[in-house]
Amino acid sequence: MRLILLGPPGAGKGTQAQRLADTHSIVQLSTGDMLRAAVAAGTEIGLRAKAVMEAGDLVSDDIVVGIISDRVDQDDCKNGFILDGFPRTLAQAEALERMLAEKSLLLDAVIEMQVDDAALIGRITGRYTCADCGAGYHDENLRPKAAGICDKCGGTTFDRRADDNAETVTSRLKAYHEQTAPLLPYYREKGRLQTVDGMAEIDEVTRQMKAVLGTG
Ligand code: AMP
Repeated sequence: MRLILLGPPGAGKGTQAQRLADTHSIVQLSTGDMLRAAVAAGTEIGLRAKAVMEAGDLVSDDIVVGIISDRVDQDDCKNGFILDGFPRTLAQAEALERMLAEKSLLLDAVIEMQVDDAALIGRITGRYTCADCGAGYHDENLRPKAAGICDKCGGTTFDRRADDNAETVTSRLKAYHEQTAPLLPYYREKGRLQTVDGMAEIDEVTRQMKAVLGTG
């Protein structure tokens, strides 16, 4: 199964992608995670992406298309993948179309997570992840069962993203509306777009996703 999750920053793409990856034995491919790893490792791509990401702007299409193209060729993607945060521009969507055709791969669904802009800043500024396994949490909406201990791996160290602050979020939302939102009509016109209510409770969003995919 190959999917695209679309929606603004804070819509819950990462949370839902992790869940679908676990239950459907497919891989979550987050360009944001890959770029953060490149920044942390100080690679050439990381050095080029760092300032752009800190400003809340989009990294160049060439870089992210190259990263995804290499990644989907790896063995763990054979069973399928969920694209989380890619494509983010029409040029990326068109490059993805060509890439999948060249690799003879089909896309099963494009799912839009619809959310009100007003809810996004609180969602983003409250979120954090386990430093050991990457499981996602939120100060109010999704706390670990035991305070300070990761539900998944028992880790006790957590990270907050450098770009999850109120100022950068405003630029990221602007980039979403200007450059990514045009992908909604693009996929709708192709008859591919499905929509779920991203404002619903996390379990309910997962249920809607599975219903859309016919795996619920
Ligand atoms: P995310 O983790 O998806 O919120 O992405 C964090 C940041 O990484 C974004 O604000 C962009 O600067 C960059 N980024 C991630 N994915 C892409 C993409 N597909 N195209 C351009 N920039 C991206």
